[in-house]
Amino acid sequence: MSETTPSVFSKIVAREIPADIVRESDDIIAFRDIQPQAPVHVLVVPKTAQYSQVSELAASDPALLAQMVSVAQDIAEEMCDGQFRLVFNSGEAAGQTVFHVHAHVLGGNLAEGSLAQR
Ligand code: 5GP
Repeated sequence: MSETTPSVFSKIVAREIPADIVRESDDIIAFRDIQPQAPVHVLVVPKTAQYSQVSELAASDPALLAQMVSVAQDIAEEMCDGQFRLVFNSGEAAGQTVFHVHAHVLGGNLAEGSLAQR
């Protein structure tokens, strides 16, 4: 993501567009997905726009990736009994539409008819 084209998530971090924010720290923001695909659907997003995909983040800042997982767990404890699916779409063909790394935290009655059963 170039500096002249901030991602939609950078705009949420900067409060340039609104979001239903559920968690925030110095490094991470989490907010509800605007088009939820599950009863609980929260995006966990590092504030830095430096990484577009999870593999880059894992290679360069594994501690930040670990923080994302920890935040996901905290959100799930609060919203869906600590049980959740964590999804990183990586690349357009995989469904990635926002190229600012993020995790989808999905929860609430996912077992039936879900990805896990395909
Ligand atoms: P991706 O497809 O890149 O893995 O996920 C991007 C996600 O961001 C999608 O699920 C989409 O619904 C969500 N999204 C896109 N724009 C906005 C927005 O302005 N606000 C919120 N809260 N979510 C958004």
